[in-house]
Amino acid sequence: MKVLGSKKENIPDLKLPIKLDDVGKEIYQLINKLYPICRSITGDGLRETLRIIKSYIPLEIQEVATGTKVFDWTVPKEWDIRDAYIKNEKGEKIVDFAESNLHVVNYSIPVKKKISLTELKEHLFTIPDYPDWIPYRTSYYKESWGFCLSHKKYSELNDGEYEVFIDSTLENGHLTFGEYYLKGQQSDEVLISCHTCHPSLCNDNLSGVALVTFLAKYLSSFSLKYSYRFLFIPATIGSITWLALNESRVANIKHGLVAACLGDPGKSSYKKSRQGNAEIDRVVMHVLKHSGYDYEIIEFYPYGYDERQYCSPGFNLPVGCLMRTPNGRFPEYHTSGDNLTLVQPPYLLDSFNKFVSVVYILENNKKYLNRNPKCEPQLGKRGLYRNISGHADTGIQECAMLWVLNLSDGYHTLLDIADISGLEFGLIKSAADALFEHNLLKECSE
Ligand SMILES: [Zn+2]
Repeated sequence: MKVLGSKKENIPDLKLPIKLDDVGKEIYQLINKLYPICRSITGDGLRETLRIIKSYIPLEIQEVATGTKVFDWTVPKEWDIRDAYIKNEKGEKIVDFAESNLHVVNYSIPVKKKISLTELKEHLFTIPDYPDWIPYRTSYYKESWGFCLSHKKYSELNDGEYEVFIDSTLENGHLTFGEYYLKGQQSDEVLISCHTCHPSLCNDNLSGVALVTFLAKYLSSFSLKYSYRFLFIPATIGSITWLALNESRVANIKHGLVAACLGDPGKSSYKKSRQGNAEIDRVVMHVLKHSGYDYEIIEFYPYGYDERQYCSPGFNLPVGCLMRTPNGRFPEYHTSGDNLTLVQPPYLLDSFNKFVSVVYILENNKKYLNRNPKCEPQLGKRGLYRNISGHADTGIQECAMLWVLNLSDGYHTLLDIADISGLEFGLIKSAADALFEHNLLKECSE
């Protein structure tokens, strides 16, 4: 990844869109590295994942003991798995955890016995509509066991006796999560959260995990106004645990995004925060509107990813969810079809650029006051306006300056001006910069 010089640079100096052609490939390579690991909401697969992320960014890894009360929940027992298979009467492994970790229902208790096909079928899960894919199933809060397999393989099972073996442990241990706090000039924070609990599944959510890793690494090379908190947590129980342990810090969170499903070919989609009109909602909508690509805006609903917890009424944080195709709306979702073919570097790069654009606007969204509010200032004598009049088209840069001058009344932010004028934020910002340099604007204090 290209780092912009060894000296910390100011993000306001960046021009967008940022050209970082290699980032899409590097995000993909990290997905590729994490793909084989069997993750869950607790356990060594999750730890190994966080250790790998720590080789990219200075992640702080925390362990929370089983039995810890976190609001209405309790940190569960830790699950670890080493091996699992189903053997037929000939002793052939017909389902093998070593081939795909999706073959075992996540959080299966240990089992070793010989059973009939009828009994075995009570513990098997398939997707008849997609007969080649293995489904992803979990049983976190009900102790049971099971196997997942393609419907094709399931259809070929003959009567007889089968040996089932799951070498797992479900015992008191810890829930592990990772956190990276990037300190900015202010204690006000931007929260970026992703779920790290899914096993070999790429779009949901290795795409989010790997993208957030590179976003954190990238932003650490700039001098930033906001502080940034990057959370790598197991879904649901992880965000509940983090919120329970950090309730006193929550007031610092001024903006936030959950990052998920960011590598598929679908259009970008944004699920708004529960507040619906928070600055983060307006910023993301602005970025998507001016991206040049189709996109979708989705109103908040109380299921989905960890925005459910951040946006629960007792917190009601301004946290939305930026995705491409949302969870549950692509056929490969929660199946072995969500693999290294579904996610691709160009889509990861596009998603990455959108996150950077969001940060760019958050960092630069200010209010100014027009120092010459009685009639327009004469821009021409300052070299800010074309000298030959009579052109039919007023230059877009000139339009942007007139909008900034007119709406810099101490009430409108640059994003307000961009949205009202229909012009892109970067254009409004560079107009404001030019006017500020010529002493026509002054910055409003917060
Ligand atoms: Zn999922």
